[in-house]
Amino acid sequence: MFDMNKLNVLFYTVCGGKFGMGHFIRCLALALKGNNFIEGFFYLRKSGGSRKKLAGGRIPLPNNSRYINEIDDLEDVNLVVSDVRNTSPKEMRKLTKIAPVISFDDWGAGIDYAHVTIYPLPTLREISGNLFGLEYLILNPAVTATSPLSIKDKKGVLVCFGGSDPYNLSPVVARALNQIGIRPLVVAGPFSEINKDEFDGQLVRDFSILPELLNKSRLVITSFGITLFEAMYLQTPVILFNNTAYHNKLAEKFDVISLGYRNRKIIPKLPKLLERTIGGEDVLIERAEMNKKLIDGKAAERILELMKETAFSGRRRCLFNHQKYYSVKRGTKNTLFRCRKCGDLFNFLFDSEGDNYDSPSYFLSNYRAQYGKTYIADRENIERMAGLRLERIENILGRHGKLLDVGSALGFLVKVARDRGWDAEGVEISAYAVEWSRRRLGINVHRGSFFDVELDKDGYDVITFFYVLEHFKELDRVIEKVKSVLKSGGILAIAMPNRGGISFRFNRRDYLRDHPNDHYIDTTHRNLRKYLRNYGFGKFYTISTGIHPERFFSILRLNKLGLNEKRELLYRIYCTAAKKLNLGDTFELYAVKN
Ligand SMILES: [Zn+2]
Repeated sequence: MFDMNKLNVLFYTVCGGKFGMGHFIRCLALALKGNNFIEGFFYLRKSGGSRKKLAGGRIPLPNNSRYINEIDDLEDVNLVVSDVRNTSPKEMRKLTKIAPVISFDDWGAGIDYAHVTIYPLPTLREISGNLFGLEYLILNPAVTATSPLSIKDKKGVLVCFGGSDPYNLSPVVARALNQIGIRPLVVAGPFSEINKDEFDGQLVRDFSILPELLNKSRLVITSFGITLFEAMYLQTPVILFNNTAYHNKLAEKFDVISLGYRNRKIIPKLPKLLERTIGGEDVLIERAEMNKKLIDGKAAERILELMKETAFSGRRRCLFNHQKYYSVKRGTKNTLFRCRKCGDLFNFLFDSEGDNYDSPSYFLSNYRAQYGKTYIADRENIERMAGLRLERIENILGRHGKLLDVGSALGFLVKVARDRGWDAEGVEISAYAVEWSRRRLGINVHRGSFFDVELDKDGYDVITFFYVLEHFKELDRVIEKVKSVLKSGGILAIAMPNRGGISFRFNRRDYLRDHPNDHYIDTTHRNLRKYLRNYGFGKFYTISTGIHPERFFSILRLNKLGLNEKRELLYRIYCTAAKKLNLGDTFELYAVKN
C-alpha cells in the first residue's frame, strides 16, 4: 500500500460540556495507535471553557502530538480529522481548505463539504454518509489489548452507566438487584451522584479499571453506549436498561436483551424483570457469543489505513481549481462532488485499489457487467465506432500520419487505423490487453501508464483518448504530456461522458446512482474546451453522441400520451435537436494544437 512514514494530522475536536469526552478520546486513540507515523495537532473547539483546561496539559498527548490554539497558519497538514458532531458549513469549508477531511459522527450542515464521513453507531435518521457500522467504532485501547476470559471464569454482576450517569440509573438498578438477593459491583465515574450507602454491594470510582472489571464479570447491566460495545468485545453478557425512549430505539438495532427505558411504570417492576432475565442465563451467554463477532477491535487500524488513503488519493478540485463545491453522492470508496461555479463533477476516490485496470477481468467480467457483453464480443461495434472517429480525424487533418491511442485496450482502434493507412500505435497499462493485442493483431503497443512510457517529443499527429481521459486523476499532467508529444497542428481526440447531457439534466438520480467509481471528472464539451485553451489548443470540433431518444421520451412519459404512431418522426426531430443542443450522454471533442 503506502510507503510513507509521516502524516501530519489536524485533529479538530471538542471536549467537555455537553459534548462529553468521547470525541476527544477517539482522536487521542488514533494519535496513540498511529504514533509511529502521525504528527498530531490537537485543536479543541471552544465548548464550555474546557479548551483552556485541557490545553493546559491535563490530558497528556502522545510524543509526536501537541495542542494548538490557532488553525489559521498551519502548514503542511496532510489530513484533517474532524470530530465535533455539529460542524457548520463555514467551519467545514475552512477545514477542507487545509487538507482532505474525515469527519466522525457529524450531524451538522457542514458535512456536505467533508471528504469522508463515518458513522460508527446506528442512527434513527437517514443520513448520507460514506462509512457506517461498528467496524469503525474505536474502542478504548485498554479494552482491545485485553483478551476476553471464557464464560466459566467470569463472576458477579457489574453495574455501570458511564462516567456521569446523567439519569442516575446506577442506584435504581443496584437496589433492584438487592431485592432479588444480588450484591452488585457498581463502577461510577467522578460525576456520578451515587452514594455507597444507597445499596448493598461494592462501589468502585476508578474508571480506569473498568475494562478489567468488564472482562471479569459474568453479567453487566448498562445503557446503550460505549460500555455495551466494550462488553460485546469482551464477550461478557449484557442486559440494557436505557436512559430514554430514544436510546432504547437505538438499542433495538442490536440483538441485546433490553429491559426498556427509565419511566415511572417500569421502576417497581424492575426486580421481577431482572430476576426473570438473569434466570435465563443461557440466552444471555448465547447472545454475547453472537455479538462478539460484530466487533473485532480493529477499528483504529482500519481508520488509520483510511487516513493514509484519504490524505493522498482522490481528486480535490474541478478542472479549473474552483474553491466552492459540495457532495452529491457518497459511497464506501468515494465521494462525488459538484463544483458550484462550473457545475462539473469531480471524484474524491479514497481507495487506491479502486482502479485496477491491470487485470483481465476489466475487459471481461467488468466490461460485461457494464455493457452486456465482453470487450471481445463487442469488437464489431468498437471497430465500427473507431472507423467513424478516424474518418472525422482524417477530415480535420486532411491526411494520415502518426497516431497514438491512449488506453488502447485490446487494440481494435489501432488495428483499424493501421488498415486505413495510419502509422498507429497504442499505450496500455493492462499486461493482458497488451499481450492480446500484440499476439492477435500484431500491432505496436507500449506497455505502461501514459505518464511512464517514453514517447518522442513532437512525435505524433494525433493522440486519442476514447473513454479514457475521465479515468485519470491528474488531468493536468496528462494534458501537459499530450502537449509535449503532439505536433503543432496535431489533433487531440477525446470521447467521454457528457455532464451536460439529457441524463444528468433530467434524470440525475439515476445518473449519480450509475456513476462509475473510477471516473474522476464529469464535464461538458464547453468546459473542456475552455480548459484546453489554457494548454494551447485553439480550434475545436464537437459532436454530441450517445443520443437515446427513448430516454428522453420515457422521462417525459410521452409514450402514455398516445403518440406512439408518431414516434418515428418525434424521435427523428429529437435527435436533430439533441445534436444541436449537445444533449447526448456522451460527446466527442477534437482539439487542434496551435
Ligand atoms: Zn469548477
